[in-house]
Amino acid sequence: MKQKYIGWVFPLCLALLFSACSARDAGASSSESAPASSSSSQAAQAASSAPETVSAAPETASSDAAQASSAPETAAEPAALPEISLSSNSIDLGEALVLHVAPADGLTVTAQTDLPFQPTFYPDGDGMTALLPISYNLSPGNYSLSIQAGETVSHYTINVTDREFEIQNLTMSEETDAATNTAEANLEWEQKIEPLKLVSDPERYWEGPFMQPVQGTITTEFGCIRYTNDDPVPTRHSGIDIAAATGTPAAAANNGRILFAAFLQLTGNTVVIEHGFGLKSFYYHLDSVSVAEGDMVSTGDEVGKVGSTGYSTGPHLHYSLLVNNVFINPWTAFEQGF
Ligand SMILES: [Zn+2]
Repeated sequence: MKQKYIGWVFPLCLALLFSACSARDAGASSSESAPASSSSSQAAQAASSAPETVSAAPETASSDAAQASSAPETAAEPAALPEISLSSNSIDLGEALVLHVAPADGLTVTAQTDLPFQPTFYPDGDGMTALLPISYNLSPGNYSLSIQAGETVSHYTINVTDREFEIQNLTMSEETDAATNTAEANLEWEQKIEPLKLVSDPERYWEGPFMQPVQGTITTEFGCIRYTNDDPVPTRHSGIDIAAATGTPAAAANNGRILFAAFLQLTGNTVVIEHGFGLKSFYYHLDSVSVAEGDMVSTGDEVGKVGSTGYSTGPHLHYSLLVNNVFINPWTAFEQGF
């Protein structure tokens, strides 16, 4: 992605500065006013640990992603051996790895990594699957990952690679800022949204690639490094902004359960969908919502209409994709899914 400098652009939102994006990582924007999420970020950090030595043998010392399974030599019964797979062992900032073990009948499957995220395995067909998001605030480099399924263990080295993110200069009107970006508004967001990030339904609702929820002009890209009103400290944009006319239907990007559907001062009319395994879609600034908490939705169902409510400069949809408390690149979900 090329760097672009955008001055006063209308359909943008700064919701992320104070909420989500700044939240979980203290990377580029350490001085942002996002105290709320720091707690969850700390939790994630605390949960991660240095690579541990997994005691069970035999081990498969593998740096290749594709296949790494091994057969316990002592297996006397003709039980199917678990096959451990990893979607890739080289990944860009802002993407997500998929870990899979099958078959996994009755097996305890765990992962240990020095990445600042503790993946959780959930039943998935005849195996188990975990998502491992790579924050755009991570330092590129090598990280370790070990997966244990019963007595089978695979070790990986994950090469996290750098990528270029858009840089944007934004002017925000004092009126909008004063009306929507207050301490009260931020506190409301933190209290109502932050706890939802840790919800993980143990069921895969989503199927196949995600659907881009609205068609329109992309005015801010995922992970954009944004300087607002000459503030020397940039913030990160956790999702994509899609400019579209007020009233345009916004579609469920995939199947899921509505976790939240209500108005918030900061992000306006807001919808959150849990797609299973902690994978979530966030919709901000809707003119109205068309779903209620607890509803099950299918890909393409209308969840609301595009608007400019909350901390927004014009009609657009802000769409973010998240695994627990780490935002990931929506375009990968649209193009290939997980
Ligand atoms: Zn936005």
